[in-house]
Amino acid sequence: AHLDRIAEVDGEINAYLHVGGDEALEAARAVDARLAGGEELGPLAGVPVALKDVFTTTDAPTTCASKMLDGYMSPYDATVTSRLRAAGIPILGKTNLDEFAMGSSTENSAYGPTKNPWDHTRTPGGSGGGSAAALASHQAPLAVGTDTGGSIRQPAALTATVGVKPTYGTVSRHGLVASASSLDQGGPCARTVEDAALLHQVIAGHDPSDSTSLNVAIDDMVAAAREGARGDLKGVRVGVVRELGGEGYQAGVEAAFQSAVETLRGLGAEVVEVSCPNFQYALPAYYLILPSEVSSNLARFDAMRYGLRTGDGSADQVMAASRAEGLGPEVKRRIMLGTYALSAGYYDAFYGQAQKIRTLIARDFDAAYEKVDVLVSPTTPTTAFPLGDKVSDPVAMYKFDLCTLPLNLAGHCGMSVPTGLVDGLPTGMQIMAPALADERLYRVGAAFE
Ligand code: GLN
Repeated sequence: AHLDRIAEVDGEINAYLHVGGDEALEAARAVDARLAGGEELGPLAGVPVALKDVFTTTDAPTTCASKMLDGYMSPYDATVTSRLRAAGIPILGKTNLDEFAMGSSTENSAYGPTKNPWDHTRTPGGSGGGSAAALASHQAPLAVGTDTGGSIRQPAALTATVGVKPTYGTVSRHGLVASASSLDQGGPCARTVEDAALLHQVIAGHDPSDSTSLNVAIDDMVAAAREGARGDLKGVRVGVVRELGGEGYQAGVEAAFQSAVETLRGLGAEVVEVSCPNFQYALPAYYLILPSEVSSNLARFDAMRYGLRTGDGSADQVMAASRAEGLGPEVKRRIMLGTYALSAGYYDAFYGQAQKIRTLIARDFDAAYEKVDVLVSPTTPTTAFPLGDKVSDPVAMYKFDLCTLPLNLAGHCGMSVPTGLVDGLPTGMQIMAPALADERLYRVGAAFE
């Protein structure tokens, strides 16, 4: 049914870069055979998923929406991919994104933007716009995305879906093509909080192939979601972040958020305002740390080992010609920014300072979590903006992720849940929790939903 739906609507939406028609059907049939053979496969067996095209798959290309990796076939599956397969979850296809997950609107894809199913002239957000649009247009019931600075939560808010950025280190990065290794994290996307919890349970867990994977037990997210669904938040302390609101935020978005906060209060939560003064520096710190890591990680695309190779002459000339042709303008901008920030003489002034701010932001969170169990804010400052609106203004594009960036810098977890429509367009509330307290997101998110 989902493959039929994709055939029907994706010509217009462009959520998928690759549709795994026959392989998906084969995987679904194999699940039947495994179940018939008595194998215990868990609650999502046979329920298909859309996979952001940054996770490697041996049976489909992994392009990261870059010309550099056009048609690239990985010799191995990402750990997330293997976990999906082991749980009997067929992969419907690979979804569109901003090239190498850098962007906020999916317009940086080398394969054209994805349209927001709620309004085809607008962005579904980014970088994981493909996954969110696939969910919102019923082309997939579940999706796996990645969130480096908001790429799961922000598209969820713009499409009235649910997106979760798990605690850093709980979902393996093995086989996830890196943008910024200290920030990247895979996570579940779904249409309900409980669906997200079920998928979270499949993809999270220790992986010796990822040196930053935490060797800790993963809490029962499904139990937390079911407990939350009873709608009782008595004893839960909720902090509204003062700095994530006010000037620059659309009035309707703020009103939707206020009414969501009232709902939490009505469910018994104790709501207080908290201040995180260093959040105002999250954007500049992120846009120094991320490009620095990007400039190093993307050095591997040297036209020798992966993907596109073009031009003649020396290795240097081939490398330069291939990178010039294979990488898009935003990716180049970040490589240059990062190379500059890391260069001798500038390291302390830029990268070093940004790392200090990262620590101050983590301290703001720690101080807040002494007083409250979760923090909340709007997920985005406005509803979905028109395609083309911010493409020529990178800083305006960066600013759209003001609310989602801080917790990535701290390695914490967060969720976006839908808070209704403003002028026909979705809005979302961001719920944040400390590292390894992901179950709080599900408890509060499910109670709110
Ligand atoms: N929009 C942010 C960026 O461009 C976040 C991207 C992401 O989370 N992958 O870096």
